[in-house]
Amino acid sequence: MNDTLYLVIPCYNEEAVLHETAKRLTKKITTMMENEIISTDSKILFVNDGSKDKTWNIIEELHNQNNIFSGINLSRNRGHQNALLAGLMTAKDLADVVISLDADLQDDVDVIDKFVEKYYEGSDIVYGVRSSRQTDTFFKRTTALAFYKLMNTLGVDMVYNHADYRLMSKQALESLSQFKEVNLFLRGMVPLIGYKHSIVEYERHERFAGESKYPLKKMLAFALDGITSLSIKPIRIITGLGFFIFVFSLIALLYSIIVKLFGETVTGWTSLTLSIWMIGGIQLLSLGVIGEYIGKMYNETKRRPRFIISEKLIDVMHLQNNRI
Ligand code: UDP
Ligand code: MG
Repeated sequence: MNDTLYLVIPCYNEEAVLHETAKRLTKKITTMMENEIISTDSKILFVNDGSKDKTWNIIEELHNQNNIFSGINLSRNRGHQNALLAGLMTAKDLADVVISLDADLQDDVDVIDKFVEKYYEGSDIVYGVRSSRQTDTFFKRTTALAFYKLMNTLGVDMVYNHADYRLMSKQALESLSQFKEVNLFLRGMVPLIGYKHSIVEYERHERFAGESKYPLKKMLAFALDGITSLSIKPIRIITGLGFFIFVFSLIALLYSIIVKLFGETVTGWTSLTLSIWMIGGIQLLSLGVIGEYIGKMYNETKRRPRFIISEKLIDVMHLQNNRI
């Protein structure tokens, strides 16, 4: 039981938390190394997602002090999911097992042992699941719950209350690398891989310092990406709705002909304008949803790279000072 573990941490403007995060993670990792749970080649891999502050300088500094710290620098900000994937794909070739977590120490670092335990017991994927959402605002809590429920009704298999705190074995990562989609929603994609998986519960803390990089606008975009990259049900709902309205309009047509034949030609202005608005609204909405999918297809067909790494700081034992 001496596998190489990599911790992958995406960082965007995290200068306020990075030192503390590095300190706590090193403590954890070195204890695990001393107890011979993981190999001494294990590392902490920071992914700098085009930060505008000193995040990359801090990562370089940490790497120079201690080669347990590794870093990759993305060429620009690509968003949390892409940054995470960049880290996972880099770690895949160097580690036996990888755990991803946020830079802000919201995820309880102490359950890393439990993750690794489950891995040694044979799980290829271990999901960290929040036991409560007390530290979240009421708004974030309710919207998150509504989103999970919606995803479930749309037929997307997602682990409830699981963010991106998870362990993946090399084998699981190899399989993930075969998913070539550009619109990333990892927490919906990972369950599609299969393999044996398990769950570890943990308490989510307050952000240690700095502020959330997920304002409402980003959160909504993320949710929409999640829905449209994993489910085509909305298109079906619209087709169903269109069919229903078509049948209804046939009945209405029949009704108006009968009414006319019997000479009761009362022209209903209200019903007329109402139906114009209603049909117009539904049409616009439907076009929007279909457009969303076409937009996704457009992005997927271009096959643009999901991330570009401009710098790598990783010291691997057998590749002395592997600086690229
Ligand atoms: N993050 C990133 N790129 C971005 C936005 C966020 O790499 O464009 C990172 C961020 O540094 C953090 C993680 O993603 O490590 C989660 O972000 P945050 O903690 O702000 O989200 P929240 O916990 O508020 O949902
Ligand atoms: Mg956070």
